[in-house]
Amino acid sequence: MNKSVVLIGTQWGDEGKGKIVDLLTLHASGVVRFQGGHNAGHTLVVEGKKTVLHLIPSGILHEEVTCMIGGGVVLSLPHLFAEINELEEAGVNVAGRVLVSEKCSLILPSHVELDLARERKLEEKKIGTTGRGIGPAYEDKVARRGLRVKDLLDETSFLAQLKINLDYHNFILEKYYGVSPVGLDESLDSTIGFKDKLLPMIDDISKELRERRSEGKATLFEGAQGSLLDIDQGTYPFVTSSNTNVGAISGGCGVGPKSLDYILGITKAYTTRVGEGPFPTEVDGLIAHHLSSRGKEFGSTTGRPRRCGWFDANALKEVAQLNSLTALCVTKLDVLDGLDQLFICTDYKESSNGEVKPIYEEMSGWKGSVAGVKSKSKLPPEAISYLKRIEELSGVEIDIISTGPDREDTIIENNPFY
Ligand code: GDP
Repeated sequence: MNKSVVLIGTQWGDEGKGKIVDLLTLHASGVVRFQGGHNAGHTLVVEGKKTVLHLIPSGILHEEVTCMIGGGVVLSLPHLFAEINELEEAGVNVAGRVLVSEKCSLILPSHVELDLARERKLEEKKIGTTGRGIGPAYEDKVARRGLRVKDLLDETSFLAQLKINLDYHNFILEKYYGVSPVGLDESLDSTIGFKDKLLPMIDDISKELRERRSEGKATLFEGAQGSLLDIDQGTYPFVTSSNTNVGAISGGCGVGPKSLDYILGITKAYTTRVGEGPFPTEVDGLIAHHLSSRGKEFGSTTGRPRRCGWFDANALKEVAQLNSLTALCVTKLDVLDGLDQLFICTDYKESSNGEVKPIYEEMSGWKGSVAGVKSKSKLPPEAISYLKRIEELSGVEIDIISTGPDREDTIIENNPFY
């Protein structure tokens, strides 16, 4: 049995990770986030009911599962407790099931203001952040002035550092961006204001995970965003502010690479991207409309329409190496229903003006629908050829195929936990 399974998005996020996390959580007793913040957005559909989670691991919908937030995550306490409230109102029992690392960096209201002011100022050159303060919180962490969860335990020194940080943030907000400063009260409400509620949830996640492993408990490491958004290995500067690749698990929750047994790469059967940045296989016109409308390609965090394009096997091959992928899970195969021709990018070429252009291989689409198909033998031969070609080009086998948003609409060739 594989005790530690990792789930990584292999594209620019929105690969449908939420559904697969939810599915795999049936076999795990713990789910852990290791990077990012509440800029992730997992949409889960269970028995027709939709839940969008931004911070709490999707495993929360399974009663027996403990959800952990590793120290690599930047944490908005108002958002954490809003999400907990929403879950509780929906009848989910959350108490005692969410553990938060003492090492998490805190997102302050001034981080949010800085994020928004910066994007406004950049205008055409904007990165397309979710405006939730994630980037500025990571900046403070790297600058070694950030406030962490464990700092809440000593309110006097917390307040002193908060004042220093707020002074600095407000200086930039007022003098550089020409916007209003953020008040101390608001900053205290968003941090110390939640201290009592947070205290019982604070834990040493690294130790917790070590103990769980030695007790033979199965854990799922839930990546957010996608590999091509990794701050170091992604399409910089149009990337997220954290490492999204598998290596982030070591730093983000204090687990060594040898403690990971299986790394699953989630990849959509086509490609999407939210926000700015290079996207070699992007399409427009009818194909874009087909993918976007059938795939409901609108951001679950921001509602922004996603850019759409053909499958990029050239990028996936690289990503497979970066993450030592064990296997792939291809999602949203059903969205390709009704297309006569499909194109897979096998390589790039540079045009005379320096633009990266895809080299495509053409494949036949299939007649009829793969929506809701639950066994590989029921897939049309063209769909099987398409999947086979993805395996050949990426060098990684496909263990799971998703044919619809519901948990049941899935073909599991090999279960990562067994
Ligand atoms: P994540 O951030 O990677 O979890 O991606 P999203 O939450 O944006 O999920 C993508 C969307 O696709 C959600 O609305 C899912 O319900 C939906 N979805 C997931 N898998 C499939 C699938 O195989 N087919 C279809 N049609 N929709 C899917």
